[in-house]
Amino acid sequence: MNWLTIIKNIMAKNKDSNSENNLPKELIDRYKNWKSNTFDKNKTLYEDLSLNGQKPSSMIISCCDSRVNPTSIFGAKAGDFFIHRNIANLIPPYSPDSDNHGTSAAVEFAVCVLKVSHIIILGHSSCGGIKSGYYNCKGDELNHKLPSINKWLKVLEPAYNELEQQSDDQLMIKSLEKLSIIKSVNNLMQFPCVEKSLESNDILIHGLWNDIGKGELEILNLNTLTFEKLT
Ligand SMILES: [Zn+2]
Repeated sequence: MNWLTIIKNIMAKNKDSNSENNLPKELIDRYKNWKSNTFDKNKTLYEDLSLNGQKPSSMIISCCDSRVNPTSIFGAKAGDFFIHRNIANLIPPYSPDSDNHGTSAAVEFAVCVLKVSHIIILGHSSCGGIKSGYYNCKGDELNHKLPSINKWLKVLEPAYNELEQQSDDQLMIKSLEKLSIIKSVNNLMQFPCVEKSLESNDILIHGLWNDIGKGELEILNLNTLTFEKLT
């Protein structure tokens, strides 16, 4: 099937669309609002970023969850953060094999090319990815319609295996949300480029957990491996 056929099939299925532009009106309106406000009022910034490239100070690794909004939490403008999002904000173990490693590629680019000074792993409450991974690790039946998610969430197994037994699943899932951040910090430190930058004191790694409903952040204390509320 060639590209033209694929596009014609998409348009045929999109019965509500009367034109080749099938972007929802709401998004078009939001774009126009951004263009005439945010962009037009910060033209110099965008011109500078376009001419001179990006120099973000920090990389943020966040969950794909729409309720977690790093740019809003940290009041970011364009160029501030190099952001990578994946299901459950996981850093897999360093593994230079023939697989496609999107997260690892993003880490390498941020550290080796952009030379960011900070990497922040941002977890969150009520994470659907962590919850699914918890039940997958527990041995409950996998949803076979989600093979890519099932495979990805296997990254959680080492953290799951270290969980302390608690009175109910909800408490253990919350613990896994935080323990998986600690594991991700540990995996991150095994990347050769990160290890080198740590040795030369060119980078700092941070773990954060966002309580969505309360708007609170807890920060990982790397000495005690506990999370403390940011006040
Ligand atoms: Zn999540």
